[in-house]
Amino acid sequence: MMAHSKALLVLENFIGGKFVPCSSYINSYDPSTGDVYCRVPDSGKEEVEAAVKAAKDAFPVWASKSPLERSQILNKLADLIEHDLEAFAQAESKDQGKTITFARTVDIPRAVYNFRFFASSVLHHTTECTEMAAVGCMHYTSRTPVGVAGLISPWNLPLYLLTWKIAPAIACGNTVVAKPSEMTSVTAWMMCKLLEKAGVPHGVVNVVFGTGAKAGEALVCHPDVPLISFTGSTLTAQRITEKSAPHCKRLSLELGGKNPAIVFDDADLAQCIPTTLRSSFANQGEICLCTSRIFVQRGIYSEFLKRFVAEAKKWQVGNPSDPTVDVGALISKEHLEKVRSYVKKAQAEGARVLCGEGVDSLALPAGNQKGYFMLPTVIAEVKDESCCMQEEIFGPVTCVVAFDTEEEVIKRANGVRYGLAATVWSSNVGRVHRVAQKLQSGLVWTNCWLVRDLNLPFGGMKASGVGREGAKDSYEFFTEVKTITIKH
Ligand code: NAD
Repeated sequence: MMAHSKALLVLENFIGGKFVPCSSYINSYDPSTGDVYCRVPDSGKEEVEAAVKAAKDAFPVWASKSPLERSQILNKLADLIEHDLEAFAQAESKDQGKTITFARTVDIPRAVYNFRFFASSVLHHTTECTEMAAVGCMHYTSRTPVGVAGLISPWNLPLYLLTWKIAPAIACGNTVVAKPSEMTSVTAWMMCKLLEKAGVPHGVVNVVFGTGAKAGEALVCHPDVPLISFTGSTLTAQRITEKSAPHCKRLSLELGGKNPAIVFDDADLAQCIPTTLRSSFANQGEICLCTSRIFVQRGIYSEFLKRFVAEAKKWQVGNPSDPTVDVGALISKEHLEKVRSYVKKAQAEGARVLCGEGVDSLALPAGNQKGYFMLPTVIAEVKDESCCMQEEIFGPVTCVVAFDTEEEVIKRANGVRYGLAATVWSSNVGRVHRVAQKLQSGLVWTNCWLVRDLNLPFGGMKASGVGREGAKDSYEFFTEVKTITIKH
């Protein structure tokens, strides 16, 4: 770390095992105060070139290590992050605006678990073998690491999503150049400080900080980076797809969502309401899996709405470092304005805002007056065609609408361009299976939300993504397969 100014935290790129200063920097804001508190390298082609070279140089030795050797290093890294869990959680909360409670209980524990999980799963893959006795041949598959992986991640779950990529990539024997979001770079930089102690050889993990347009695009366009794993918006994914097409790169794209929750009249509302509040407002609604369209069967619509709004009003918005707070700050001023603009559009279209933005007043502590805060907002009577029901808002805003029949609600839930995650609430087992089968969604949770088994595929349909991640899926993405035939 360099001390350009006493007050500001100044990050450096991590290339070939060393922290390297950059010639220019961009500001990073504390979303809870609106103050600049950190300077992030504004990397471009030059820095990406150096990082890719370091990763390329490190590849042959790392790729030739046994899975067990790599696994031990991943486990060590997990232990080191876990040892510093509180420092990581404080940093993630300050950098992103999320509550300290969420960072402590979700973000950082999951980053630790990502390394432990892939350290274990990489030991248990098997390849295929078949025999063609009639012609005296057997075939088998062999898998090898691909090379330098380019990893690009968003700002909503910074270390959690970056490690979800780094862990499988290096467990499989690739080396990586990672680019976290320019808005949330601090915890990735902190992790770099632990790599040497964990035994990660120089050049295996390189991190370049900077914007998507400069650093991200330089990585996507680099001819020596054959695969890109990207999590972010659908718009950016389209750009990445175009830019990487001339190189025929392998892409994994985890994108946005417009996730429905379907509540049938036989749902257990005592379970459904608190879970749907979480699925709508957890992490300020800034989770790709958050619910933003709640379809409630007409018979229980009024009761649901009354109870849901009463509970939403209890969510405390305030200083993210206060452990009693439920909703922290949104990532940026621009994002806050964007989220608010959806509420205004809904009102202009005749929808009813039942609580939150523009309806209730928000009292903030003195130090947080300039932070990017917003109350959990519930909108009712919104038309399915409204932009609030079609576009990803990615904030603490959820729409509640009524439906009559199963067939109708499936059609309406599927009537968006996204297909990431859906939840279904009903005590009828036959119905939950039937509806889950018919939803165009990469993930369907019934009578729960966000319960994840990392072994199973994760990813979206339609504009929500291309490819899947998980134990087997990430292994397949991060390795090259070869079929070998032996005549005996
Ligand atoms: P974003 O697309 O703006 O940015 C994501 C990353 O891509 C950042 O690191 C950014 O710097 C980089 N980037 C931007 N332009 C680039 C370019 N031209 N070339 C290369 N890299 C570029 O997304 P965001 O605003 O940071 O994150 C929010 C979005 O991420 C939401 O749409 C959300 O749904 C999605 N998301 C999806 C998942 C998932 O698993 N499906 C998980 C989390 C977030």
